[in-house]
Amino acid sequence: MGSAPFAGWHVMLHETGAAHPRGGSGMLAQALAKALIARGGTLRTDAPVERILVENGAAVGVVLPGGEAVRAKAVVAACHVVTTFTKLIAPDDLPPGLLSRIHSINVGNGFGMTVRCAASELPDYGAGFPTEVHHGMQLLCPSEGYLRDAYADYFSGMPSRKPPVLAMTFSPIDDTLAPPGKHVLSLWSQYFPYRRRDSKSWDDTREEAADTILETLYGYAPNLRNKIEQRYIQSPLDLERTLGLLHGNVMHVEMSLDQMFWFRPLPELANYATPIRGLFLCGASAHPGGGVFGASGLNAAGVVARSLRTGWRRFLPV
Ligand SMILES: Cc1cc2nc3c(=O)[nH]c(=O)nc-3n(C[C@H](O)[C@H](O)[C@H](O)COP(=O)(O)OP(=O)(O)OC[C@H]3O[C@@H](n4cnc5c(N)ncnc54)[C@H](O)[C@@H]3O)c2cc1C
Repeated sequence: MGSAPFAGWHVMLHETGAAHPRGGSGMLAQALAKALIARGGTLRTDAPVERILVENGAAVGVVLPGGEAVRAKAVVAACHVVTTFTKLIAPDDLPPGLLSRIHSINVGNGFGMTVRCAASELPDYGAGFPTEVHHGMQLLCPSEGYLRDAYADYFSGMPSRKPPVLAMTFSPIDDTLAPPGKHVLSLWSQYFPYRRRDSKSWDDTREEAADTILETLYGYAPNLRNKIEQRYIQSPLDLERTLGLLHGNVMHVEMSLDQMFWFRPLPELANYATPIRGLFLCGASAHPGGGVFGASGLNAAGVVARSLRTGWRRFLPV
Protein backbone atom coordinates (compact mmCIF):
# COMPACT_ATOMS: atom_id res chain seq x y z
CA MET A 1 0.00 0.00 0.00
CA GLY A 2 1.30 3.44 -0.83
CA SER A 3 3.88 2.14 -3.32
CA ALA A 4 3.11 4.76 -5.95
CA PRO A 5 3.71 7.86 -3.79
CA PHE A 6 6.81 6.16 -2.39
CA ALA A 7 8.15 5.55 -5.89
CA GLY A 8 7.54 9.24 -6.64
CA TRP A 9 9.29 10.24 -3.45
CA HIS A 10 12.37 8.22 -4.34
CA VAL A 11 12.46 9.69 -7.84
CA MET A 12 12.67 13.14 -6.25
CA LEU A 13 15.91 12.06 -4.56
CA HIS A 14 17.51 12.16 -8.01
CA GLU A 15 16.81 15.90 -8.02
CA THR A 16 17.93 16.73 -4.51
CA GLY A 17 20.33 13.95 -3.61
CA ALA A 18 20.12 12.12 -0.29
CA ALA A 19 21.94 13.77 2.58
CA HIS A 20 23.96 11.95 5.23
CA PRO A 21 24.95 13.85 8.40
CA ARG A 22 28.65 13.35 9.13
CA GLY A 23 28.80 11.06 12.16
CA GLY A 24 25.50 9.36 11.34
CA SER A 25 21.83 10.23 11.62
CA GLY A 26 22.11 10.98 15.34
CA MET A 27 24.22 14.01 14.44
CA LEU A 28 21.14 15.61 12.90
CA ALA A 29 19.41 15.44 16.28
CA GLN A 30 22.56 16.82 17.92
CA ALA A 31 22.66 19.72 15.45
CA LEU A 32 18.98 20.51 16.06
CA ALA A 33 19.59 20.44 19.82
CA LYS A 34 22.51 22.86 19.47
CA ALA A 35 20.43 25.18 17.28
CA LEU A 36 17.66 25.22 19.89
CA ILE A 37 20.07 25.95 22.75
CA ALA A 38 21.89 28.62 20.72
CA ARG A 39 18.55 30.42 20.34
CA GLY A 40 17.96 30.40 24.07
CA GLY A 41 15.85 27.25 24.28
CA THR A 42 16.06 24.71 27.07
CA LEU A 43 16.28 21.05 26.23
CA ARG A 44 15.33 18.39 28.76
CA THR A 45 16.27 14.81 28.00
CA ASP A 46 15.68 11.81 30.23
CA ALA A 47 12.43 13.50 31.15
CA PRO A 48 9.60 11.43 29.67
CA VAL A 49 6.26 13.18 29.79
CA GLU A 50 3.92 11.26 32.07
CA ARG A 51 0.88 13.39 31.46
CA ILE A 52 -0.23 16.37 29.45
CA LEU A 53 -1.79 18.84 31.83
CA VAL A 54 -5.29 19.79 30.71
CA GLU A 55 -7.26 22.48 32.52
CA ASN A 56 -10.67 23.71 31.41
CA GLY A 57 -10.30 21.90 28.10
CA ALA A 58 -6.92 23.44 27.30
CA ALA A 59 -3.40 21.96 27.39
CA VAL A 60 -1.36 24.11 29.75
CA GLY A 61 1.80 22.06 30.24
CA VAL A 62 3.21 18.63 30.99
CA VAL A 63 3.94 16.57 34.08
CA LEU A 64 7.27 14.75 34.39
CA PRO A 65 8.20 11.80 36.60
CA GLY A 66 8.21 12.78 40.23
CA GLY A 67 5.32 15.16 39.64
CA GLU A 68 7.28 18.14 38.28
CA ALA A 69 4.91 20.25 36.21
CA VAL A 70 6.21 22.35 33.32
CA ARG A 71 3.65 24.92 32.29
CA ALA A 72 3.57 26.32 28.78
CA LYS A 73 1.55 28.41 26.35
CA ALA A 74 1.45 25.47 23.95
CA VAL A 75 2.22 21.76 24.02
CA VAL A 76 3.48 20.21 20.78
CA ALA A 77 3.39 16.42 20.90
CA ALA A 78 5.72 14.68 18.45
CA CYS A 79 5.30 11.18 19.81
CA HIS A 80 2.92 8.62 18.37
CA VAL A 81 -0.62 10.00 18.13
CA VAL A 82 -2.04 6.93 19.88
CA THR A 83 0.46 7.40 22.72
CA THR A 84 -0.46 11.08 23.01
CA PHE A 85 -4.18 10.47 23.30
CA THR A 86 -4.29 7.13 25.13
CA LYS A 87 -1.30 7.36 27.51
CA LEU A 88 -0.62 11.03 28.10
CA ILE A 89 -4.09 12.52 28.41
CA ALA A 90 -6.67 11.34 30.91
CA PRO A 91 -9.82 10.01 29.16
CA ASP A 92 -11.93 12.56 31.04
CA ASP A 93 -9.92 15.38 29.46
CA LEU A 94 -10.74 14.25 25.93
CA PRO A 95 -13.72 15.56 23.97
CA PRO A 96 -16.54 12.99 23.76
CA GLY A 97 -15.98 10.37 21.09
CA LEU A 98 -12.34 11.22 20.38
CA LEU A 99 -10.89 8.19 22.17
CA SER A 100 -12.85 5.71 20.03
CA ARG A 101 -11.78 7.65 16.93
CA ILE A 102 -8.14 7.38 18.05
CA HIS A 103 -8.58 3.62 18.40
CA SER A 104 -9.88 3.51 14.83
CA ILE A 105 -6.58 4.86 13.42
CA ASN A 106 -4.91 2.20 11.30
CA VAL A 107 -1.49 1.69 12.90
CA GLY A 108 -0.86 -1.25 10.59
CA ASN A 109 1.06 -4.42 11.23
CA GLY A 110 4.64 -3.22 10.89
CA PHE A 111 6.46 -3.99 7.67
CA GLY A 112 10.21 -3.99 8.11
CA MET A 113 13.08 -4.84 10.38
CA THR A 114 16.72 -4.00 10.43
CA VAL A 115 20.09 -5.58 11.11
CA ARG A 116 22.93 -3.16 11.72
CA CYS A 117 26.34 -4.70 11.34
CA ALA A 118 29.97 -3.98 12.07
CA ALA A 119 31.84 -5.54 9.14
CA SER A 120 35.48 -6.01 8.28
CA GLU A 121 34.77 -5.68 4.52
CA LEU A 122 32.41 -3.93 2.17
CA PRO A 123 30.04 -6.06 0.10
CA ASP A 124 31.58 -7.19 -3.18
CA TYR A 125 28.71 -7.52 -5.64
CA GLY A 126 31.01 -8.83 -8.38
CA ALA A 127 32.12 -7.36 -11.67
CA GLY A 128 30.07 -4.70 -13.36
CA PHE A 129 29.39 -2.45 -10.41
CA PRO A 130 31.29 0.83 -10.05
CA THR A 131 33.02 1.42 -6.70
CA GLU A 132 30.43 4.16 -6.11
CA VAL A 133 27.91 1.38 -5.53
CA HIS A 134 28.85 1.70 -1.86
CA HIS A 135 27.87 5.39 -1.89
CA GLY A 136 24.25 4.64 -2.66
CA MET A 137 21.45 2.45 -1.37
CA GLN A 138 21.87 -1.10 -2.57
CA LEU A 139 18.50 -2.71 -3.22
CA LEU A 140 18.92 -6.48 -3.26
CA CYS A 141 15.76 -7.49 -5.07
CA PRO A 142 16.11 -9.26 -8.43
CA SER A 143 12.62 -8.79 -9.83
CA GLU A 144 9.12 -7.53 -9.36
CA GLY A 145 8.01 -11.14 -8.91
CA TYR A 146 10.43 -11.58 -6.01
CA LEU A 147 8.95 -8.48 -4.39
CA ARG A 148 5.40 -9.77 -4.92
CA ASP A 149 6.25 -13.15 -3.38
CA ALA A 150 7.78 -11.42 -0.36
CA TYR A 151 4.68 -9.28 0.03
CA ALA A 152 2.42 -12.33 -0.36
CA ASP A 153 4.14 -13.95 2.65
CA TYR A 154 3.60 -10.78 4.68
CA PHE A 155 0.01 -10.47 3.50
CA SER A 156 -0.62 -13.97 4.81
CA GLY A 157 0.76 -12.90 8.18
CA MET A 158 4.21 -14.41 7.93
CA PRO A 159 7.71 -12.98 7.53
CA SER A 160 8.94 -13.01 3.93
CA ARG A 161 10.81 -16.22 3.27
CA LYS A 162 12.92 -14.39 0.67
CA PRO A 163 12.94 -10.78 1.80
CA PRO A 164 14.11 -7.88 -0.34
CA VAL A 165 17.01 -6.16 1.44
CA LEU A 166 18.18 -2.58 1.26
CA ALA A 167 21.89 -2.52 2.13
CA MET A 168 23.50 0.74 3.18
CA THR A 169 27.22 1.26 3.67
CA PHE A 170 27.94 4.76 4.89
CA SER A 171 31.52 4.27 6.10
CA PRO A 172 33.02 4.81 2.59
CA ILE A 173 31.58 8.34 2.55
CA ASP A 174 32.03 9.08 6.28
CA ASP A 175 35.27 7.99 7.95
CA THR A 176 33.97 8.85 11.44
CA LEU A 177 31.68 5.81 11.48
CA ALA A 178 34.19 2.96 11.69
CA PRO A 179 37.88 2.46 12.49
CA PRO A 180 40.25 2.33 9.50
CA GLY A 181 39.69 -0.84 7.50
CA LYS A 182 36.31 -1.51 9.11
CA HIS A 183 32.82 -0.68 7.94
CA VAL A 184 29.23 -0.25 9.03
CA LEU A 185 26.54 -2.04 7.11
CA SER A 186 22.84 -1.39 7.70
CA LEU A 187 20.32 -3.82 6.31
CA TRP A 188 16.71 -2.70 6.17
CA SER A 189 14.49 -5.49 5.02
CA GLN A 190 10.84 -6.13 4.24
CA TYR A 191 8.36 -7.65 4.95
CA PHE A 192 8.07 -8.65 8.61
CA PRO A 193 4.64 -8.46 10.26
CA TYR A 194 4.45 -7.40 13.89
CA ARG A 195 1.58 -9.84 14.56
CA ARG A 196 2.39 -13.19 13.02
CA ARG A 197 -0.09 -15.77 11.86
CA ASP A 198 1.92 -18.49 13.58
CA SER A 199 1.66 -16.51 16.86
CA LYS A 200 5.40 -16.90 17.42
CA SER A 201 7.04 -14.21 19.47
CA TRP A 202 9.60 -11.89 17.92
CA ASP A 203 11.76 -12.46 20.99
CA ASP A 204 12.07 -16.09 19.89
CA THR A 205 12.44 -15.48 16.15
CA ARG A 206 14.44 -12.26 15.75
CA GLU A 207 17.79 -14.08 15.39
CA GLU A 208 16.36 -16.45 12.79
CA ALA A 209 14.91 -13.52 10.80
CA ALA A 210 18.26 -11.71 10.98
CA ASP A 211 19.96 -14.85 9.64
CA THR A 212 17.54 -14.87 6.68
CA ILE A 213 18.34 -11.24 5.93
CA LEU A 214 22.08 -11.90 6.11
CA GLU A 215 21.77 -15.03 3.94
CA THR A 216 20.05 -12.85 1.32
CA LEU A 217 23.00 -10.47 1.48
CA TYR A 218 25.52 -13.31 1.16
CA GLY A 219 23.71 -14.44 -1.98
CA TYR A 220 24.77 -11.16 -3.61
CA ALA A 221 28.02 -10.53 -1.74
CA PRO A 222 29.49 -13.92 -0.74
CA ASN A 223 32.66 -12.22 0.50
CA LEU A 224 30.80 -11.03 3.59
CA ARG A 225 30.23 -14.49 5.05
CA ASN A 226 32.37 -14.57 8.23
CA LYS A 227 33.10 -10.84 7.84
CA ILE A 228 30.23 -9.65 10.04
CA GLU A 229 31.84 -8.97 13.41
CA GLN A 230 28.78 -7.77 15.32
CA ARG A 231 25.13 -7.31 14.61
CA TYR A 232 22.35 -5.34 16.24
CA ILE A 233 18.84 -6.50 15.41
CA GLN A 234 15.69 -4.41 15.48
CA SER A 235 12.61 -6.60 14.96
CA PRO A 236 9.18 -4.94 14.73
CA LEU A 237 8.76 -5.65 18.46
CA ASP A 238 12.19 -4.15 19.26
CA LEU A 239 11.22 -1.01 17.33
CA GLU A 240 8.07 -0.73 19.42
CA ARG A 241 9.83 -1.35 22.72
CA THR A 242 12.89 0.84 22.23
CA LEU A 243 11.57 3.67 20.04
CA GLY A 244 7.87 3.78 20.84
CA LEU A 245 7.04 2.91 17.23
CA LEU A 246 3.78 1.06 17.87
CA HIS A 247 3.55 -2.25 15.98
CA GLY A 248 7.02 -1.46 14.62
CA ASN A 249 5.55 0.94 12.07
CA VAL A 250 8.36 3.43 11.37
CA MET A 251 5.74 5.76 9.83
CA HIS A 252 3.71 5.69 13.10
CA VAL A 253 0.42 5.07 11.28
CA GLU A 254 -0.23 3.61 7.84
CA MET A 255 0.70 5.86 4.93
CA SER A 256 -2.48 4.92 3.08
CA LEU A 257 -4.48 7.46 1.12
CA ASP A 258 -7.26 7.44 3.72
CA GLN A 259 -4.69 8.60 6.32
CA MET A 260 -2.76 11.17 4.30
CA PHE A 261 -3.20 14.89 3.68
CA TRP A 262 -6.28 16.26 5.48
CA PHE A 263 -7.07 12.78 6.87
CA ARG A 264 -3.79 12.30 8.77
CA PRO A 265 -4.02 10.99 11.39
CA LEU A 266 -7.77 11.86 11.58
CA PRO A 267 -9.67 14.67 9.88
CA GLU A 268 -10.26 16.43 13.23
CA LEU A 269 -6.50 16.35 14.01
CA ALA A 270 -5.21 17.02 10.51
CA ASN A 271 -4.08 20.63 10.65
CA TYR A 272 -1.59 20.14 13.51
CA ALA A 273 -4.07 21.64 15.99
CA THR A 274 -6.38 19.46 18.07
CA PRO A 275 -9.79 19.86 19.71
CA ILE A 276 -7.86 20.46 22.95
CA ARG A 277 -6.83 24.09 22.80
CA GLY A 278 -3.09 24.62 23.12
CA LEU A 279 -2.27 21.04 22.10
CA PHE A 280 -0.59 20.60 18.73
CA LEU A 281 0.67 17.52 16.92
CA CYS A 282 3.66 16.95 14.68
CA GLY A 283 5.98 14.09 13.77
CA ALA A 284 5.30 11.05 11.65
CA SER A 285 1.71 10.76 12.88
CA ALA A 286 0.92 14.08 11.20
CA HIS A 287 0.91 14.94 7.49
CA PRO A 288 3.06 14.26 5.47
CA GLY A 289 4.05 11.30 7.63
CA GLY A 290 7.26 9.52 8.48
CA GLY A 291 10.78 9.98 7.22
CA VAL A 292 13.62 12.20 8.29
CA PHE A 293 12.76 15.43 6.55
CA GLY A 294 11.08 17.64 9.11
CA ALA A 295 8.07 18.62 7.01
CA SER A 296 5.40 18.00 9.64
CA GLY A 297 7.51 19.86 12.23
CA LEU A 298 7.88 22.84 9.90
CA ASN A 299 4.15 22.92 9.17
CA ALA A 300 3.25 22.51 12.84
CA ALA A 301 5.69 25.27 13.86
CA GLY A 302 3.93 27.60 11.42
CA VAL A 303 0.53 26.82 12.96
CA VAL A 304 1.85 27.25 16.52
CA ALA A 305 3.67 30.50 15.67
CA ARG A 306 0.59 31.92 13.96
CA SER A 307 -1.55 30.92 16.91
CA LEU A 308 0.80 32.58 19.40
CA ARG A 309 1.18 35.69 17.24
CA THR A 310 -2.45 36.27 16.49
CA GLY A 311 -3.89 34.88 19.67
CA TRP A 312 -5.93 32.48 17.57
CA ARG A 313 -8.09 31.62 20.54
CA ARG A 314 -9.28 28.28 19.24
CA PHE A 315 -5.77 26.94 19.64
CA LEU A 316 -4.71 28.59 22.89
CA PRO A 317 -5.61 28.08 26.52
CA VAL A 318 -7.83 30.82 27.83
C1 LIG B 1 15.27 1.10 11.20
C2 LIG B 1 14.65 2.33 10.60
C3 LIG B 1 15.06 2.76 9.36
C4 LIG B 1 14.52 3.91 8.81
N1 LIG B 1 15.00 4.37 7.61
C5 LIG B 1 14.61 5.56 7.16
C6 LIG B 1 15.23 6.15 6.01
O1 LIG B 1 16.15 5.58 5.42
N2 LIG B 1 14.81 7.36 5.60
C7 LIG B 1 13.82 8.04 6.24
O2 LIG B 1 13.48 9.14 5.85
N3 LIG B 1 13.20 7.50 7.33
C8 LIG B 1 13.58 6.30 7.80
N4 LIG B 1 12.98 5.76 8.90
C9 LIG B 1 11.77 6.40 9.42
C10 LIG B 1 12.07 7.59 10.28
O3 LIG B 1 13.18 7.34 11.12
C11 LIG B 1 10.84 7.92 11.13
O4 LIG B 1 9.70 8.05 10.32
C12 LIG B 1 11.09 9.25 11.87
O5 LIG B 1 12.20 9.12 12.73
C13 LIG B 1 9.88 9.65 12.66
O6 LIG B 1 10.27 10.79 13.36
P1 LIG B 1 9.36 11.46 14.45
O7 LIG B 1 10.17 12.52 15.11
O8 LIG B 1 8.08 11.82 13.85
O9 LIG B 1 9.00 10.31 15.46
P2 LIG B 1 9.89 9.36 16.34
O10 LIG B 1 11.25 9.20 15.76
O11 LIG B 1 9.01 8.17 16.56
O12 LIG B 1 10.06 10.21 17.68
C14 LIG B 1 9.08 10.26 18.67
C15 LIG B 1 9.83 10.43 19.95
O13 LIG B 1 8.90 10.63 21.00
C16 LIG B 1 9.45 10.02 22.14
N5 LIG B 1 8.41 9.83 23.13
C17 LIG B 1 7.42 8.91 23.17
N6 LIG B 1 6.70 9.04 24.27
C18 LIG B 1 7.24 10.07 24.96
C19 LIG B 1 6.92 10.70 26.21
N7 LIG B 1 5.91 10.29 26.98
N8 LIG B 1 7.70 11.73 26.64
C20 LIG B 1 8.72 12.16 25.88
N9 LIG B 1 9.06 11.62 24.69
C21 LIG B 1 8.32 10.58 24.25
C22 LIG B 1 10.02 8.72 21.61
O14 LIG B 1 10.95 8.19 22.53
C23 LIG B 1 10.67 9.19 20.33
O15 LIG B 1 11.99 9.59 20.53
C24 LIG B 1 13.52 4.62 9.50
C25 LIG B 1 13.11 4.18 10.77
C26 LIG B 1 13.67 3.05 11.31
C27 LIG B 1 13.24 2.60 12.70
